[in-house]
Amino acid sequence: MASAVETYAYGVARNLGIKVLGSAVEAVALYCEERVTGFAETFACATLEDLRLATANGVKTSVVTIVTDEDLARVEAAYIARKEPGFVSLTSDLGPGVFGQTVRLLTRAKGERPFVSIIDARGDKAARAGFTEWHEYAHLLTLTDPALAKFQRSHDTVKPPAEALMDIIAGRIGFLTSVFTPHLPPTLSFSSIAALRTAACPGASWTSLFNALARVWPDPVVAVRAQVEVKRAQKVPAGQGSFGFAPPPVGVLRAVQAIGNAAARDTGFRIHPNMRVPKNSAIALAASGGGVHEGAENLSQWESAQGGSLESWPIRVIARATAGGVDALIVAEPADH
Ligand SMILES: [Zn+2]
Repeated sequence: MASAVETYAYGVARNLGIKVLGSAVEAVALYCEERVTGFAETFACATLEDLRLATANGVKTSVVTIVTDEDLARVEAAYIARKEPGFVSLTSDLGPGVFGQTVRLLTRAKGERPFVSIIDARGDKAARAGFTEWHEYAHLLTLTDPALAKFQRSHDTVKPPAEALMDIIAGRIGFLTSVFTPHLPPTLSFSSIAALRTAACPGASWTSLFNALARVWPDPVVAVRAQVEVKRAQKVPAGQGSFGFAPPPVGVLRAVQAIGNAAARDTGFRIHPNMRVPKNSAIALAASGGGVHEGAENLSQWESAQGGSLESWPIRVIARATAGGVDALIVAEPADH
């Protein structure tokens, strides 16, 4: 059965008149990449920062980034003074888990773009602000019904298929291959990634940058998201937590997501989702101590719940602690393989 995102993407493809031969998600993502490639060519974009500006222009939106509550109050008041109904509940719309919103203006000044994309970069939301912008562009690239254009939001906790599809598109267009790959460093390390970010995409979120690097890197890489998960059997039943009858549940650090790139798939370089993170891995150090950790390790340190370990393969691990977990790149070292 098709996933909810695939089903939703099929509807989007039909509305946009895109032919779907295989995956509808892929077809819609390609359509968006082609349009953004057009913007990149028109404006001769050399960096992803150039591309960001060219795309805002291409999808006809003005970006307004909100950093403080005062910014928000000022922006809301300014558009309400212009009698723009889309901004009436802006403050309450940008609640927890909502990162951005795009509004179509009813009345435009001469030369003003028809849309306004509000990017919420207050507090913890700042780390995602760059991605939120691309998410809003994805909405505008896939827009077919003007009546639906009044409100769009970026949800995090509750992710309907439409929002999940926009995130997929945002990850692709925000790191458009033709603009991104000329900036790739010769080897992957945290310092080379940081230099790349400064040069090509200073506003990008680290999580999206890690994912994009894994996707386009020519050699085998697995992008891992690791989180501490409490095993169901160890979860303390309601009401029994504070009496000391059972030992407290011990969390296990696991790779809750492990996505290999094309080269990894071709060579059989893989980590299975839900595998336990080795205790001495840079990922475990980042999880316990925060910050960035790197290490030369071996894939054979990874063991499945059944006790079997992966084959020996020298790897470089680049791990960065984020809210609630660790993002990591596991890069195959060019050794015997
Ligand atoms: Zn959205």
